[in-house]
Amino acid sequence: MNTIYFDNAATSPMYPEVLEAMMPYFQDFFGNPSSTHKKGREVKAKLEQARKEVARCLNATASEIFFTSCATEANNTILKSVVKSYGTKHIISSSLEHHAVLYTLHYLEAIEDLTVHYVKHDSKGVLDLEHLKELLEKFPNALVTIMHGNNEIGNLNPIKEIAELCQKSGAFFHSDTVQTIGHYALDVQELGLNALVGSAHKFHGPKGVGVLYLKAGSKLHSFIHGGAQERGFRAGTENIAGIIGLSEALSLTYQSLDKDKEYISSLKAYLIEQLRLEIEGVEFNGSEVFEESLYSLINISLPPLRNSGMLLFNLDLNNISVSSGSACSSGAQIGSHVLQALEVVAERPSIRCSFSKFNTKEEIDFFVKKLASLY
Ligand code: PLP
Repeated sequence: MNTIYFDNAATSPMYPEVLEAMMPYFQDFFGNPSSTHKKGREVKAKLEQARKEVARCLNATASEIFFTSCATEANNTILKSVVKSYGTKHIISSSLEHHAVLYTLHYLEAIEDLTVHYVKHDSKGVLDLEHLKELLEKFPNALVTIMHGNNEIGNLNPIKEIAELCQKSGAFFHSDTVQTIGHYALDVQELGLNALVGSAHKFHGPKGVGVLYLKAGSKLHSFIHGGAQERGFRAGTENIAGIIGLSEALSLTYQSLDKDKEYISSLKAYLIEQLRLEIEGVEFNGSEVFEESLYSLINISLPPLRNSGMLLFNLDLNNISVSSGSACSSGAQIGSHVLQALEVVAERPSIRCSFSKFNTKEEIDFFVKKLASLY
């Protein structure tokens, strides 16, 4: 039996077309894009073509696009470079951010003379925008970093509204859009933010390549020093095959964005319906307003279960790959900081399911049946 893969927010299977597009750049087109000879120039041309395609998808200009080794690097780059370049004294964020942001903020607070302020949220993880406004009034030139789609509970933060607030106060707004690039048509002009980041493996591209949009006119010091790659902003020989793969994957997702969104949304809605029918007392962590949550992700809160520590293992034995959204913190298992921040009851096991267009209703039926059989 094939594995039922419901962990696409962790990583997604690569499109075969992406692998095909990448293959020549491991062999025939092996040149270094910084070389001025023919072998280098032909790769450089392809690199710039990929950059243009990514810029087209995001409605940015090619000069605003930088490639990195992953989204973690892109997040680190923006946060550390803004602090160094602008002498930031106040950062506004949320305790529900991914560790790529959260731990970078902890580090910055420990070594720099700055303070991080966390926007309040309710028990569903919905941010308190009034509190954000108050913070922006107090610290108008802050660096604001608030993610778009939460990778654990799925909440979609209103980044356009947040960008407007930041513009009014003169704050720099960065958003970790890893879970929404390639899933939603993000238009940087319309959104009006200063920086956003993405990771190819979250939208059927290869691992080990990220992208950073930085609004034109931002005068930031480079984060990685060395060669003149990426216009001197990010030194290091480019991961050409990865970049080609990222651009190809983004391009492909854009070809069927609306259709895929409709289909994947229907899977999520079906799972919610079936769980409510089959498991008494099932609840959901995060926002339950469908449009205010990632259409591809759901965090299920199950009634207490004996041996709940074996739940994921049990599902895995049945060829079902899901992720835990555990709120507990016992032994080697480190609980989710997001569920802890929402004060989710530790006795209720949590499971995160995240879908792609390759999933089916039949897989959901099988999953719900297995889960229900444990009660
Ligand atoms: N930010 C979010 C919201 C994520 O979900 C992830 C990956 O899970 C990352 C950042 C880190 O991405 P990468 O694996 O490309 O470093």
